[in-house]
Amino acid sequence: MAKCKRCGKFGLFMSVNKIGLCPRCQNEYNVYIAREAEIFGDSSKIVTETDNLSTRLSRCDLALQKLFMMKNFGNEDYDLFWEITKSSRIDEMIDLYAGMADDLREMYSGIESLIFDLIRERGSVPKKLIVDTIQNAQQEAGRDLPFDVDKSVVSILKDLEFDQKLRKEKIKNRYEYFLNDAAAG
Ligand SMILES: [Zn+2]
Repeated sequence: MAKCKRCGKFGLFMSVNKIGLCPRCQNEYNVYIAREAEIFGDSSKIVTETDNLSTRLSRCDLALQKLFMMKNFGNEDYDLFWEITKSSRIDEMIDLYAGMADDLREMYSGIESLIFDLIRERGSVPKKLIVDTIQNAQQEAGRDLPFDVDKSVVSILKDLEFDQKLRKEKIKNRYEYFLNDAAAG
């Protein structure tokens, strides 16, 4: 006699699928979780493949959000992630992605502060100076950051502009970044 691993329902003619779900739970899975699980898969792939810090952080956050949805679909008897992968438990995955997101966020805010400090020091900066400063610091420290500095700085500057913390102005032939008054505080 088959018993659904998630809702515990059992019956003589009931069938469960290969991830232990009865038809009703499978239907719920299809409606609420299938697309989210797919987004988790895509995001975790991008997290490992991209060399852009900003992209990696936002995809890591998205993957984490989807993991929580997958966890909530389960209960104390049913670990959806384990049933799908047979190799990792959902809580391990959540720890892994939460740790990764923390590390990435730390690097991201490190670069943000560096940008703000440079602008406060000089009034305004071109992108190249920010990139050079980080690359010199990398060299001095004797270790590389695990992403492409130029690409990541471009994205972070865009994020900061979008949040209206910085503004870009063309001075002679190049763009310079300035602090907006709110950020200068
Ligand atoms: Zn069920």
